[in-house]
Amino acid sequence: MEVCILGSSLTSLTLAKTLVNQGIYVDIFSSKNNKEADKNRTIGISKNNIEFFNKYIFNINKILWNINKIEIFSENLNDENILNFVDREKLFSVVKNYRLMNFLISELNKNKLCKFKKKKITNNILKKNYKIIINCDLNNLITKKFFYKKIKKDYNSFAYTTVFKHKKLNNFTAKQFFTSRGPLAFLPISETETSVVYSVRGKEKIDLDYFIKKYNNNYKIISINKSSSIELKSSNLRSYYYKNVLAFGDLLHKIHPLAGQGFNMTIRDIKEILKLIKSKKGNGLDLDSSICIDFEKNMRHKNYLFSNSIDLIYESFKLESKIKKNLFSKLVRQMGKNKTLNNFFVKVADEGFFI
Ligand SMILES: Cc1cc2nc3c(=O)[nH]c(=O)nc-3n(C[C@H](O)[C@H](O)[C@H](O)COP(=O)(O)OP(=O)(O)OC[C@H]3O[C@@H](n4cnc5c(N)ncnc54)[C@H](O)[C@@H]3O)c2cc1C
Repeated sequence: MEVCILGSSLTSLTLAKTLVNQGIYVDIFSSKNNKEADKNRTIGISKNNIEFFNKYIFNINKILWNINKIEIFSENLNDENILNFVDREKLFSVVKNYRLMNFLISELNKNKLCKFKKKKITNNILKKNYKIIINCDLNNLITKKFFYKKIKKDYNSFAYTTVFKHKKLNNFTAKQFFTSRGPLAFLPISETETSVVYSVRGKEKIDLDYFIKKYNNNYKIISINKSSSIELKSSNLRSYYYKNVLAFGDLLHKIHPLAGQGFNMTIRDIKEILKLIKSKKGNGLDLDSSICIDFEKNMRHKNYLFSNSIDLIYESFKLESKIKKNLFSKLVRQMGKNKTLNNFFVKVADEGFFI
């Protein structure tokens, strides 16, 4: 027995596939069946992380839709386009969450190194002989007992998500509007479908269709799916591990979705785990809990800094809307015109911080 993964979420499955590809035995414990997939969920994955997926997880290209331009608008500057990012090949790609999960499940089901175990997750798992237990489950008993000390923030907001169908067009530009209520993103997923994420301050339910029509300026909409909503909170765990149990995914760090970076942070974490495992194996050593210690040492400060940067962007636009000024939007517009800074933003969104 080598590695045990708790939970069967997107993070769990991605990590499991990375590990079995390295010849590691993985048991995935989950107390619930994968819920009916939410067809409105999409995930934007950075170019650098796609390269990692293709090399170490599986060839993801066939289920991706590539985006080569991002346009950012600010309502505080009369909906002016304040920032653009362009890459002839692609800046990032979008995938339907359920397609990625189904693909990973079917690959893992075929792999003899991976076993799915449907069981209630209790402290008894700690007594089993696993070298490392990786906990990707936000709600099990182990999480409640050992991973509850967090730096938390309630955004007092909901994210509304949906997908709409439209007339066929060259759909390679993602758009983000910083509105007075919060950021609204249009994320293309095919020539005829685009997903929407609107993070809205306040707990009052909104009519998403109304806002899609208000901010849409290039789609001939045919139909809009019924929207889903999720309350927005951020959190960073104070301690990444307990003995040989390592927390992972949104349990480790959960951020505001405005930059579409939550899962990208997790892929960067998976890269680090892989690096540590390869170094152990390369030195002829067995996997053990020192991986948890090294992982925390190498990633905690990066993840904390990255989470806080996303929060700072959110708070700056929020403050600007509140005081009805446009200084931050003007600053962003100015910075975006500087080629070096523009390239720096693209690099950070693509690869995270290098410190
Ligand atoms: C609205 C929204 C949009 C996001 N977009 C991106 C993105 O483009 N790129 C990226 O790298 N990360 C994105 N994320 C973060 C990403 O979804 C999570 O980091 C990732 O799913 C965590 O995986 P998990 O396996 O730990 O948990 P999972 O089992 O995948 O899901 C649990 C998490 O999903 C979130 N969630 C629940 N419903 C939805 C929904 N309808 N849409 C999205 N998330 C939901 C919950 O906040 C919870 O933390 C987004 C998060 C939200 C809330």
